[in-house]
Amino acid sequence: MPENTNSNRRDLLKTGLGLVAVAGTVLSTGKAKADDKLAHELVQYQETPKDGAQCSKCAQFQAPAACAIVASPIAATGWCVAYAPKEG
Ligand code: SF4
Repeated sequence: MPENTNSNRRDLLKTGLGLVAVAGTVLSTGKAKADDKLAHELVQYQETPKDGAQCSKCAQFQAPAACAIVASPIAATGWCVAYAPKEG
């Protein structure tokens, strides 16, 4: 069994809790508007990829450096808990 299983579970739990918080915010405020996007802190945005996941591979990414739901600026190499991989 890998040594970092507990760490992975904690990370997964934190990500899950973050997504619940994001979903609650979006549901309570309605559809995210261009001028009313989620703050970086709320979605734990970081400017570096996480486990191979990054903004440029996310369904919410808007090239060259914007996001449909998170406040600008973001980086194509960034990541947040709302990450949802593009299909296909
Ligand atoms: S990972 Fe987060 S900030 Fe990046 S494009 Fe997806 S939803 Fe937006």
